[in-house]
Amino acid sequence: VTGAKAEILAIGDELLHGSAIDTNSAWLSQRLEELGVHVGRFTVVGDEPGAFESALRDAAQRVDLIVSTGGLGPTEDDRTRHEAAAVAGVELVFDPGSWASIGAWFEARGRALTEDNRRQALIPVGGAPLRNDFGTAPGLAMDLGGCRFYALPGVPSEMRGMFEEQVAPDVRERFSDRLSPVVHRTLNVLGPTEAALGARIADLMSDLDGDVRVGVTAHFGLLRVRIAAHGVTVAEADARADLAADRVRPRLGHELIYEGDQDLASHLVQELRRHGLSVATAESCTGGLVARALTDQPGSSAVFPGGVICYSNDSKVRDLGVSTTDLEREGAVSAVVAGQLAQGVAGRFGAAFGLGITGIAGPDGGSAEKPVGTVWFGLHRAGGGTRVWERRIAPISRSFVRERASFEAQAAVLSALRSGDV
Ligand code: ATP
Ligand code: MG
Repeated sequence: VTGAKAEILAIGDELLHGSAIDTNSAWLSQRLEELGVHVGRFTVVGDEPGAFESALRDAAQRVDLIVSTGGLGPTEDDRTRHEAAAVAGVELVFDPGSWASIGAWFEARGRALTEDNRRQALIPVGGAPLRNDFGTAPGLAMDLGGCRFYALPGVPSEMRGMFEEQVAPDVRERFSDRLSPVVHRTLNVLGPTEAALGARIADLMSDLDGDVRVGVTAHFGLLRVRIAAHGVTVAEADARADLAADRVRPRLGHELIYEGDQDLASHLVQELRRHGLSVATAESCTGGLVARALTDQPGSSAVFPGGVICYSNDSKVRDLGVSTTDLEREGAVSAVVAGQLAQGVAGRFGAAFGLGITGIAGPDGGSAEKPVGTVWFGLHRAGGGTRVWERRIAPISRSFVRERASFEAQAAVLSALRSGDV
């Protein structure tokens, strides 16, 4: 990566000890990458004296830009200003402008200003205060040798507002010739395990020319291949990302279910709407997870008339017309029952597609023939055929089996929409 490099420092005992989560760094990292600055590291330090100073001194040796959050408050343990001055080797001076703003903030809220607040009006020689319109603590911008340093408050809303209004414009201006915008591509895959997918694209993941990174993340068996590409311009980054995606795609085959950042249910609802088609669900082992995922999406009423949670055999027969004879002969977790659920629910709701899901979520209830994780699916197309298929889902946990089955069912509808067949 040729562009400007950054690191992020988060300050606070609560972050270090796990009683609060450092969300500031994740947010800042995304914003900096969007601006075209490459973030190479986060550091979290506690409030003890010297911890921030040493982290700041180290980072300033490595990168062009540092953003810190926290430690700007009025109390003795808020040392960001003091320690930044120490790293720069300069004195702190009292800034009357900052003091006036702090005073105005307190006055507007009818609160009493204390002597402690004077601490917040101190500024290292050569530094500039960053205005805080959202709270009392002014931030700080200064140069540490060749490194530009910004100190922002820990309170997330204050930090964000100040970053957008003051830091981002300054970064754009100072680093205008060294920004390297990043673009992303996401390829969503269902079928292989994470390890198997990793092996399939291992050469592309380790083929680090520095401008393109390929990684895999997993969520209940739904895998995302994430491509991040840098360029001098967005067009160049786009071209690199497209090239990488073209190399990944053939390795995924029909297991590539869709592309983009959207989650599966949101993509499915969008595609159903685009085709003007609907789906109804008959869910046994997933207990309504598919219906829940679909109805979480705004606008789903146009494509989801309803579903049945047919958990008992009684319900399968009474509510969806499954044959008692077939049910007794084949068992509830079977091809024939999955198919009848799909047909029954499509008819009952007058939907274009009917989905049937029946399986053994565990931890109990498995047998040698039908171990935990066995799930049968049925997909019926009104006026067309019915497809049934089985998955042996890894019995990692009850929730894994159920969520994975819900993804499988949704992906099947997507693929039927694409092929025009079930
Ligand atoms: P400030 O510079 O705003 O005075 P501070 O360190 O003095 O920062 P704290 O009182 O420690 O402020 O934190 C204020 C609030 O912001 C707390 O609720 C804290 O959990 C939250 N906070 C601080 N740092 C982070 C962070 N990195 N990510 C998310 N929340 C944070
Ligand atoms: Mg703090």
